[in-house]
Amino acid sequence: MFILILGAPGSGKGTQGKILAERLGLPKITTGDLIRTAMKDGTPLGLEAKKFYDEGKLVPDSVILGMIKDELDQPAAKEGAILDGFPRTAAQAELVDKTLGQRGQRLNHILLMDVTEEELVRRMRARAQVEGRTDDSPEAIATRLQVYQRDTAPLIAHYAQRGIVHRVPGTGTVDNIAGEIKRIIGR
Ligand code: ADP
Repeated sequence: MFILILGAPGSGKGTQGKILAERLGLPKITTGDLIRTAMKDGTPLGLEAKKFYDEGKLVPDSVILGMIKDELDQPAAKEGAILDGFPRTAAQAELVDKTLGQRGQRLNHILLMDVTEEELVRRMRARAQVEGRTDDSPEAIATRLQVYQRDTAPLIAHYAQRGIVHRVPGTGTVDNIAGEIKRIIGR
């Protein structure tokens, strides 16, 4: 089973993705974490990504598409995975559809984390105090929200045509939201 967690920055994708992956025994593939690791290790990909990442812009598809393909092709993701943070662009969505399609698989559920913009900003500012992520500056937060609306939100309509989008109210306790997700996917 392949489940995509979609939502604006700060909407709780990572938190719920982790709970879901553990419950279903599936790997969670998180492009943001892969990029942060690459930046920390100073790999060529990390160096290339950093200038976009720090400003809150998307890392170009030319850099990301290979990463996505490699992750989906891993043996651990043969039977399913939780996708967190990608696809984020039309080209990434196409690659995911194509890669899974060639294996006779598809995305089964899209969980759309629904949180007001006010709450998103509040959470990211709070997180900035704790984690010190370089893209949690006020400017980068504003850019990330704009980029989400422009490049990623259109994917909702793309997947809605297939009838696989479930809107998850993203405000409430972590446990409540996890319970709602369990109810939605039926396991
Ligand atoms: P958030 O959803 O809070 O922005 P992420 O960790 O998912 O957190 O993403 C942080 C940053 O990493 C993005 O702003 C972008 O620069 C980069 N990034 C993560 N995933 C992708 C992706 N699939 N395509 C392009 N850039 C990505």
